Amino acid sequence: MSLEIVCIPVLSDNYVWLLHDDVSGETVAVDPAVAAPVLEEAKQRGWTISAIWNTHWHPDHTGGNAEIKAATGCTIIGPLAEAERIPTLDQKVAEGDRVHIGKHAAQVLDVPAHTAGHIAYYLPSASAAFVGDTLFAMGCGRLFEGTAEQMFANMQKLAALPPETRVYCAHEYTQSNGRYALVAEPQNEAIAARMVHVEAARARGEATVPTSIAEELATNPFMRAASAAELADRRAAKDNFR
Ligand code: ZN
Ligand code: FE
Repeated sequence: MSLEIVCIPVLSDNYVWLLHDDVSGETVAVDPAVAAPVLEEAKQRGWTISAIWNTHWHPDHTGGNAEIKAATGCTIIGPLAEAERIPTLDQKVAEGDRVHIGKHAAQVLDVPAHTAGHIAYYLPSASAAFVGDTLFAMGCGRLFEGTAEQMFANMQKLAALPPETRVYCAHEYTQSNGRYALVAEPQNEAIAARMVHVEAARARGEATVPTSIAEELATNPFMRAASAAELADRRAAKDNFR
């Protein structure tokens, strides 16, 4: 059961993920910031978007909803707790719910903190997790509507996924995150080694995501924080890091 996953870079640093299941012919767009490049990518591949999965209400994750729905008639799925802030939602989901693309089931995980109702989608059959702005390569989302305690719990929840799980983040923040990670954990050789690859990939203009749970366990100072207090300290330091 293979699922094709395509990266569409949009705006300055957003990634929209396009999922396609050949068996059912279904196609899902995760967090479409904008519509045109997403519709174009699908069209070029001969795919029709059947659903949108939103992780949270921010406009750089939902901005393409209405136009993609108008063009395709797709179903828009997103966080129950943010339904008022995403008026385009057709289906509202929360922890414990499942959504499908063909025979692939995605488990909905509540991961509040970046926004109050942020969710993630975990597909065990594809070893893939779509985490929006909660977990980034060597980073985590800013705490706009939640606490360090919540983000610490989110990190623990995601850390418990199988290590080979591919993590599809919604932004290319790896270089900046990595530069901070080197300061947060100067003795961590895995971070230094990873940064060599990251700098080279960025110099070639390549995406550095998806990442994996295993890579984050080794190099992410937020996932590796020993306590909510340590995560809070690191988040505050990163907010002011340049
Ligand atoms: Zn966001
Ligand atoms: Fe975002």
